[in-house]
Amino acid sequence: MARPEAQKRYRHLVQHCTDHIPENTPVISRFAPSPTGYLHLGHIANACFVWGITRALGGRVILRMEDHDRERCRPEYETAILEDLDWLGLEPDLGTLDTWQKGATIYRQSDCGARYQSALDKLIAQGRAYACDCSRKSLSERLAPGKNDLVYDGHCRERELDFAQPDTSVRFCVTPDAVQFDDLLLGVQVQSPVEQCGDFPLYDRHGNWTYHLAVVIDDLAQGVNLIIRGEDLLDSTGRQEQLAMALGRETRPFIMHHPLIMDAEGRKLSKRDADTGIRELREAGCSPETVLGKAAWACGLLDQEIPLHPGALPELFR
Ligand SMILES: [Zn+2]
Repeated sequence: MARPEAQKRYRHLVQHCTDHIPENTPVISRFAPSPTGYLHLGHIANACFVWGITRALGGRVILRMEDHDRERCRPEYETAILEDLDWLGLEPDLGTLDTWQKGATIYRQSDCGARYQSALDKLIAQGRAYACDCSRKSLSERLAPGKNDLVYDGHCRERELDFAQPDTSVRFCVTPDAVQFDDLLLGVQVQSPVEQCGDFPLYDRHGNWTYHLAVVIDDLAQGVNLIIRGEDLLDSTGRQEQLAMALGRETRPFIMHHPLIMDAEGRKLSKRDADTGIRELREAGCSPETVLGKAAWACGLLDQEIPLHPGALPELFR
């Protein structure tokens, strides 16, 4: 039932983690949806990897709400995510489903502003962060035609702007060094943040902590030592590595970027299919096992689309 070639790859990966994790160190990973919408099949494919691998390693899964973007997040989406996970039988070990209604939690990013501020202050004191008042428009006007306007040119690095000015973002000073890391599935990766993005925002002009800042600080604060996420996030790993180092991280976590969900011909699933909501599948009469099986099959973990019980997820990786 597990795809033989997939199982071979992942069994090796689990063995590698077992061999390299320091003794008496629990494996901690996280499932981190953003409450900007409902859970869809792409999320559940990620959950199959997170729960399956972490449980195969005897580790713990954190449920983290990545609601750093205050304009796009809605409380009703958070509630819906909790309900859908409960329905699917995907129980986190930290940030458990029953704790979320009780008030602020360290696993919800919008409750962690003080933690982010203190990290930002540290970076500013070290000279690794600075205020920037460039708009996207002013940046693209400055750059040569045809140049990628997503690569920041360092315009405000030496301007010593006031952090308290309105419409001011805070950027992280990347270093020119390339970042090398060993992805558990993709092997050695070399990335150059200075060419990919340049100095990137930690706090945006609209008053939001950015994804990069929040995710790096949360992983550090929560002792995450196994990061499992989709290949679509691969490009952001190098810059997050530089940020984690600047914040004093001593041990690099295991990092794995898994395949995104595919159709029967092995093509990346269309946005529309990948966005099939778990709510819609529930309403259409699917069982939790049917939905898990569908997600696991679509990301190449099963050789056919058959129902899958959440308790059987670790077996796909052993
Ligand atoms: Zn600027």
